[in-house]
This record gives sequence, structure tokens and C-alpha cells, in this order.
Amino acid sequence: MKNQVRVSSTTTPWPLTTTMTPSSATAADEGDLAVGGVRLAEIAATYGTPAYVLDEADVRARARAYRAALPEAEIAYAGKAFLCRAMIGWIQAEGLSLDVCSGGELALARHVGFPAERIVLHGNAKTPRDVQDALAYGVGRVVVDSTYEITQLAVAAHPGRPQKVLIRVTPGVDAHTHAAVATGIEDQKFGFSLSAGAAADAVRQVLHWQLTERPALELAGLHCHLGSQITSVDVFAEAARRLIALMAWIRDEYGVVLPELDLGGGHAVGYCDGDPDFDLEQYARTVRAVIAKACRQHRLPVPRLTVEPGRAIVARAGVTLYRVLTMKRNPGIRTFVAVDGGMSDNPRPALYGSAYTARLIGRATTAASEPMTVVGRHCEAGDVIARDLPLPSDLRPGDLLAVPCTGAYQHSMASTYNQVCRPPVIAVRDGVARVLIRRETLEDLQARDVSL
Ligand SMILES: *Cc1c(COP(=O)(O)O)cnc(C)c1O
Repeated sequence: MKNQVRVSSTTTPWPLTTTMTPSSATAADEGDLAVGGVRLAEIAATYGTPAYVLDEADVRARARAYRAALPEAEIAYAGKAFLCRAMIGWIQAEGLSLDVCSGGELALARHVGFPAERIVLHGNAKTPRDVQDALAYGVGRVVVDSTYEITQLAVAAHPGRPQKVLIRVTPGVDAHTHAAVATGIEDQKFGFSLSAGAAADAVRQVLHWQLTERPALELAGLHCHLGSQITSVDVFAEAARRLIALMAWIRDEYGVVLPELDLGGGHAVGYCDGDPDFDLEQYARTVRAVIAKACRQHRLPVPRLTVEPGRAIVARAGVTLYRVLTMKRNPGIRTFVAVDGGMSDNPRPALYGSAYTARLIGRATTAASEPMTVVGRHCEAGDVIARDLPLPSDLRPGDLLAVPCTGAYQHSMASTYNQVCRPPVIAVRDGVARVLIRRETLEDLQARDVSL
């Protein structure tokens, strides 16, 4: 998990085991890679391709690393990165809380009996059903994101049994990330603006429902989420200072001291060899010190910190396996390698221009590398998985490719574009593979098409 200088090379394939492969990854014979003690080529043979492989030990180790780095904080896993019942079980066993942002994600948590008080409900536009389900299950906190929602929640809550809420504040901190995931700046859809006074108005509105005889809401704290793939620790420090200043204002104005401060997630993960990872130790040190100092200055008690990593918990645990279907050599232009998946199982390159890498597995080769671009099978020219990678010049249809760092925002964002069935999720641990989510079938797809 160390920062590395980027060494870009078009001739060296990524080593079998790197910072972006699961921690249990080991080189196996015949150019194969084993994860969780199971050879990837064997998984491809047993379960078919494409397939997502997920290393349980890696997920759990990263969850534990967060708890060890921030023992005083609540670590809430952002479920939208990847969610299924087994994953929720691991998160629960490792002592994490769970962020959900829809009734659907909440229903999964409920299905496995995840403790309601450890659930945080997000969403910039919650449906009436989301709100009802959250109240019915008794989720620990609802992060409110609009004035309509505050009224809706207050009216639906049981008077005298106040629902704890956090206010999502837009602190005006630019985390210098892709526009589609920049959520700390002013001009985007999330949160109440700090500078425009909307956050102060939201505080007033929530407290109106709290400071009454039969309170419907209880303002537990403030929340912000600055975006995703953030490598800078300073932006979190700045957001913390701004939110604590707002907490001091709330104390001065209303005499209410807020016990919680939620700084969101967005901790970066390196997707390609040499990409910087997020420095969790430095984050813990810096944020802890900044919060302590700001609270001293404002004479506030130190609030309990919540952090919400999604990608940082699960991205590196995942490897996607594809089979090469065909190749196209356009001399002087590019060599295309087309595989049996694509933007339906990994939409991130098309959405954000994200870079990935890939490597041949399951067959040893001494062939020299040459640059190739791995593309999917969908009807879009933007259906690219990884551009200009070094792959062996003897690559051919039938070969297997492994794409690392695909545990987050892959299955959860997968589609059935072109009526292509979504891949299974296969967990590996201690030499054993098991299906967490089975492969989608054409019957699954056609079951919804109910009328001729
Ligand atoms: C998406 C999201 C996260 C997690 O983001 P990552 O980039 O996966 O760490 C955390 N909090 C909120 C509110 C989010 O919307």
C-alpha cells in the first residue's frame, strides 16, 4: 500500500503480484495467478468467463486496517461500491458500519439482520419508500440532503422517538478529482452549501423539529463527502476545519453541541502499477490533529469521527477474468484484443476514462510484449477496458486475461446492455472458491419481459 513512482512502460507486463492485486495473490506455475489459494485459470474453467473473483481475506484485512488506523472512529463501509449478503456479513463481522443509499441496499442489509443502529442512509433524492423503510428498520442515522427531505422525514418520523440525522454539507473544498465524482464543490447536486448559507438554513430547519415538546428529528452531526479517488489528505483537513467552525456556530446560535462529524469517503486506490494509493496512516494522523486543534480553538468537545471508505475496502480484492474472443491487428494504428465482457461488467473506463491494466494468465509465454488495447463485445466504440497495454505478441483467441482492482463499482454498476448477462461473483478464501452471486441467465433477463 505504499506510494510508488509511476514507471510507465509499454514492454513490461504488470508483475503477477503488485499493490493492485489482492494481498493473497501468488504466482502459480504456467504463468497463472492464484488468489485466496485458488488458481484463476481453474476458476475460469469451473465457472466460465467473464467472472469477478473476490478475495475475502483482502476485504477483511482492509476493514481491519481502517479500524486499527482510526480506533476512535466509526468506519462505515459505503455499500454502493459492492454489496451482497456475504459482503455485508464480512463488514458486520469486522465491526464496520454500513452506508446505504437506497431502499434496495437497505433491504439487503435488513435481509441479513445487519444492526440497524450501524446503518447510515444517504441519497440526494430519497424516495418516500426509502424514507419509510429506513424509519421502519430504525436506521442509526439519515443523512439529509434537501429541505423537502427534512420535512418529509420529520412528518414520517414517530414524534417523541426522534430520528437521528446528519446534515450533508457542501464545504466548497475541491478535491481535484473527475467532475463526475467531485462532490465537495459548489456546482453539483449534493449537499447544502456552506458558503451560500443553505447549510445554516438546514440546521435551523432540523432544529425546528428537534427543539419542541415531541421532537421528530435529532441533529446528531454534520457530514460531507468530497468526491472519489482523492489522494490529498489536506482537503479532508480543510473540510474538517470548516465543518467544526459550523458546529461552533450552531453551539453559539442554538446552544446545541453536535456529537458526530462524518468526513465521508473517497480514499483513492491505485488501479495501475505505480498509481499512488491513499495514505491511511497520514490521513489518520492529520485529521485527528486538525480536529483536536479546531475543537480546542472553538472550545468544543471532540466529536466522534465517522469515515466512509467504499473503494478502499473492496477495489483491490477483485480480479475480473475474461477470455479473448478475437483480435484485430491494424498495423501502424493499434492492435485490438476483444474479450467476452466489456462495458456491461466494467463501465468505469467509458464513464470516467478510468485506466486499467490486464495480463495473460493460465499459459506461460516467452513472447515479447507489444502494446494492445483490450476492448469489450458491446456495440460502442467507447467499450474499452484497457488502452495500450503491454501484452504478449503471441496472444490469441481462447487466452485468459485477468484485470486487477475490479472489486469496487464493477458488479454494482454492471448493466445488461446488449442483453448480455452479468457475470458471477466468486469468493476465494483458503484454497476454496464459492459463488456469492451466480451468473445471470437469459431466463433471468427474459423473465421481466412479460408481454408480447
Ligand atoms: C460513494 C460514497 C462514499 C464512498 O466513496 P469511495 O470513493 O468508494 O470511497 C462514501 N460516502 C458517500 C456519501 C458516498 O456517496
